[in-house]
Amino acid sequence: MGASVSGLSEAEDGEWDSGVPELSEVELEIENAVREYGDETGSFLTRVSGSHGWRVFEWSDGAVHRYEWTHHLLDLRCAHCKSPNNDLYMVTDEVWESSDLDGWACFRCLEKAIGRRLWPDDFKPGLPANDGDHHEPELRSRMGL
Ligand SMILES: [Zn+2]
Repeated sequence: MGASVSGLSEAEDGEWDSGVPELSEVELEIENAVREYGDETGSFLTRVSGSHGWRVFEWSDGAVHRYEWTHHLLDLRCAHCKSPNNDLYMVTDEVWESSDLDGWACFRCLEKAIGRRLWPDDFKPGLPANDGDHHEPELRSRMGL
C-alpha cells in the first residue's frame, strides 16, 4: 500500500509516496506535521474536520491545511514473468532506458531485456533499495556485495 498526502508543501508531498503501510501511520505522520506547524508558528488549532481519507486543520493564524490520502494495493510481482521473488532494486536511468521495459521488472527480466548480466555500476549508489540487506544472494552478487 502507498499513501500520498497534500497539505503543507510540495517537498512533503514527495516524501510521503514511499510505502506508508498502515492507516495509523498516516494519522501519526499528520499528527507530527500538525504539532510541528504549531511549534513553528505558535498557532493553535481552531477547528479540525475530516472523514475517511481527508482531514482539514484550521489554525488561529488563518492557515488551513488539508490532507488527503488514498490506499491502493500494489502487485509487487514482476510485471513480466510474474515471479513473486522480486526484490526491490534501482538501476541507473541509462540501464533502465536501454531495457525498454515498462512497469515493475525483476532483475532477471531486466538482464534478459538488456542482453547481459547486471554488475555493480548498473545500480544507483547510496540508495536503501540497493543496500543488499533485503536481497536474495544472486541479486547481491550482481550488486557486488
Ligand atoms: Zn521477471
